[in-house]
Amino acid sequence: MLVLSGPSGCGKSTLCRELLKDQRVEFSVSATTRPKRAGEVDGRDYVFLTPKTFKAHVDAGEFIEWAEVFGNLYGTLRAPMEATLAAGRVYLLEIDVQGALQLKALNVPGTYVFIAPPDFEELRRRLVGRGTESVEVVERRLSKAEDEYRERVKYDHVVINDDLQRALDEVRAIAGLQLGPDTTADRDKE
Ligand code: ADP
Ligand code: 5GP
Repeated sequence: MLVLSGPSGCGKSTLCRELLKDQRVEFSVSATTRPKRAGEVDGRDYVFLTPKTFKAHVDAGEFIEWAEVFGNLYGTLRAPMEATLAAGRVYLLEIDVQGALQLKALNVPGTYVFIAPPDFEELRRRLVGRGTESVEVVERRLSKAEDEYRERVKYDHVVINDDLQRALDEVRAIAGLQLGPDTTADRDKE
């Protein structure tokens, strides 16, 4: 299990998109009550649920962790994670700091990586540049980012996402994913 977390806008989704080009990696599709953004697909980016359905999953114990993030609920479903790990693949989680620390506190085995922005001004530029949140929401995310940044010491690794390719190489090295998928496939056949 490879957990990427860190402040909103630090580049987690961008890094995940790149990591998922490797067939050994499978994305943990979280459930959320947040409204779908333009371009998002139900079941691929998130499983979009009503608050009532989300709470039913909580009561049924179907989440390995869940948290309220910026007024919406987000959770990691247990069943697909167990199936992927049993198949020997890397299960990639992109979750917030509260969620990652919940998993760590439960001793869920995995590699916990904190993705840090180069600095807070750059974080602001990225959040504004992404253009998916209102000014008010950007401000809320930035003020939370400072508290989240303090938690980085609880992770196994901290990767600064300055240059995307460099950060990606670092995450791949941490996760043991340096070899190309073809090389691994060949090796597995032998
Ligand atoms: P998160 O998933 O952590 O909220 P995103 O992956 O959506 O963050 O990235 C926020 C914005 O920053 C996006 O517009 C993305 O294209 C941009 N971005 C991500 N990584 C970098 C980087 N290394 N350098 C410059 N911009 C980046
Ligand atoms: P966004 O709404 O921008 O997609 O995500 C907001 C925050 O929720 C991000 O920090 C993202 O990592 C986090 N998040 C997404 N899925 C989960 C999840 O399953 N659990 C937790 N705890 N956080 C999540």
